[in-house]
Amino acid sequence: MTPAHTTRSGHAVHTLDLNFQGVARTIAAYALPHPEGVVLVECGPGSTLSALEAGLARLGYGLEAVTHLLLTHIHLDHAGAAGRLARLGAHVYVHHVGAPHMLNPEKLLASARRIYGDEMDRLWGEFLPVPAERLTPLHDGDEVTVGPLRFRALDTPGHANHHMVFLLDGLCFLGDIGGIRLPGTGVVRLPTPPPEFHLERWRESVRRLEASFREHAVTHVAPTHFGIFDDPDAHLAAVTEALDDVEAWMEAELSDGEPDVDELRRRLVAHTRERVLAAGFPARVWAEHEAVMPTAMSADGLWRYWRKYRG
Ligand SMILES: [Zn+2]
Repeated sequence: MTPAHTTRSGHAVHTLDLNFQGVARTIAAYALPHPEGVVLVECGPGSTLSALEAGLARLGYGLEAVTHLLLTHIHLDHAGAAGRLARLGAHVYVHHVGAPHMLNPEKLLASARRIYGDEMDRLWGEFLPVPAERLTPLHDGDEVTVGPLRFRALDTPGHANHHMVFLLDGLCFLGDIGGIRLPGTGVVRLPTPPPEFHLERWRESVRRLEASFREHAVTHVAPTHFGIFDDPDAHLAAVTEALDDVEAWMEAELSDGEPDVDELRRRLVAHTRERVLAAGFPARVWAEHEAVMPTAMSADGLWRYWRKYRG
C-alpha cells in the first residue's frame, strides 16, 4: 500500500491506485479518513470499482463508508462510479455546470459512446445517475466541511468548462488542470479532449493557481493522473511548458487549412512521445500509458479548439 501523505494539520491522504485497464499509476482516487467514515476526492470509472473497493478495504473501509465524494469534473475516468457510491450513501459534490449531467447522464454517455463505440462498457463500466438529494453543485470559492476537513473549491476551466480543484490544508487536488504527470518524472502532458479544451482559459487557470498556491501556502499537488508531489511551483511550470508546447504544435500543424484527422493524431502522438522520451520517460512505460490514456484523442480536442477560436 502506498504510504499516506500527511497534511500540515495532520490529516492522512491515501492514494488509491485504480490500476485502470491493468496499468498502474494512471488513475487515482484519494481517500481521507475522518471520524464518521471516509471522504473520496475522485472515484474513477465504473470499470475500476473493484479496485476502489480493494483500496478502501486495505484502509479498513467498505464502499458504504464513503460519506462524501468530491469530483474535480464529470469525465468518465474521474466520476464514473459516483452514482454507485451515491446509492451506497455518499454525498457527491461537483461543479454546478457538470451537476445536471450527474443527475441525468444520458447525453454524456451518448457522446462518450460515439467516441468509444463497442469499447465503451469494457473501458468505463456502468455510470449510474446520482440522485438529486445526494448531489450538491459547487460554485467558485465554496467550502465543503467534513468533520475536521475543510476543502475549498476553485473554478478552473481549460481542460473542461466544469472543472474544480480542491484546496485542503496546503494540498491541492488538481484534477486534470494539472495535466497528466508521468510517474517518476516531472514531465506533464496535457489531456486536451474535445469539446471543451481551451488554451487561454487553461493558462488563466494556471495563473490563478499560482496566486492561490502563494496565498494558501500550498506545499503539495495531487493531479488525478497520478500521485501526490511536493513541488507545486515546478509542477505548474511543467503545465505551462506543456501549454506552450501544444500551442507551438498547433501553430505549426494546423495553420494551413483542413488537415487529415488520422494524420494529425499520428503526428501529435509522435510529437508527444518524442517530448516525453527526451525528458527521460521510459519508452516501455510510455507505451503502456499510451495504450490506456491515448494521446490521439487530444489531437481531436486541439483541432476543434483551433477551428473554433483560431482558424
Ligand atoms: Zn478530464
